[in-house]
Amino acid sequence: MRLLDKVALVTGAGRGIGKAIALRLSDEGAKVIVNDLEPAYAENVADRLKQLGRQAIAAKADVCEWPEVKSMFEQAAHEFGRIDILINNAGIRRDVAFHEMSEEDWDSVVAVQLKGSFNCARAAQKYMVKQAYGKIVNIASPVPVALAKQGQVNYSAANAGLEGFTKSLAVELGAYNVNVNCIAPDFIDTEMTRNAARREGMYLDDLKRFAVAEIPLRRLGTPGDVANVALFLVSDESSFISGQTICIRGGP
Ligand code: NAD
Repeated sequence: MRLLDKVALVTGAGRGIGKAIALRLSDEGAKVIVNDLEPAYAENVADRLKQLGRQAIAAKADVCEWPEVKSMFEQAAHEFGRIDILINNAGIRRDVAFHEMSEEDWDSVVAVQLKGSFNCARAAQKYMVKQAYGKIVNIASPVPVALAKQGQVNYSAANAGLEGFTKSLAVELGAYNVNVNCIAPDFIDTEMTRNAARREGMYLDDLKRFAVAEIPLRRLGTPGDVANVALFLVSDESSFISGQTICIRGGP
């Protein structure tokens, strides 16, 4: 058990990559706060963990809203006594050609990815600095690749921002023994990619076939692939790694 008695808060953990991370950290002994905007998603994951005899709580909060984030962390710290790990995973896509992109398309993506990560890190650091121990992992997207994609100026800008945010935060929190890193997965098979295929009017199988043809390892990524790297980055095996981004895309 690599995370025995550690307390981890995973945002957007009701499904997809966040859910896989929550389950993986729990497998290694962490007590998990399962955050999601959708309460039913969060409760499903927390209930599954509790049925396995693990400690977990569901926390409905919109990461963009500071009062909700602050109160979620206060409740989590009250329940479990500390916060060791934060995974900033919540994210959305609103892909649309630039000339048709609305202010709302821009603001909503930047708000969840960037402001949400800022809000949660701001709340978490209070506990981590006091403990002189913490691990923060931001989930972004490989920037050079994302920059080249159609309809993603909002998503690309937000993800590039997350990489910068990671580096600066690693510098600020390093003296308090808090590691801050970033994971940039590409084409992981989740509801987000399925929704993107639907919006683009593509059959999911066609989209997957096109994607696989471009991936050197010739398969799509799974949420579990991302969860394994997240586990490494929050374990003490990576204690001298900070401010880095690891791409998970089956190739360079
Ligand atoms: P997903 O849409 O399947 O799951 C995202 C979860 O986040 C959902 O449960 C949703 O309810 C929750 N969420 C959305 N807005 C929220 C908010 N404001 N507050 C709290 N929770 C909120 O997405 P996924 O594919 O699992 O992606 C997870 C993260 O990984 C995202 O940040 C995404 O940008 C990133 N990512 C995904 C891929 C991919 O191919 N799937 C690739 C690169 C990066």
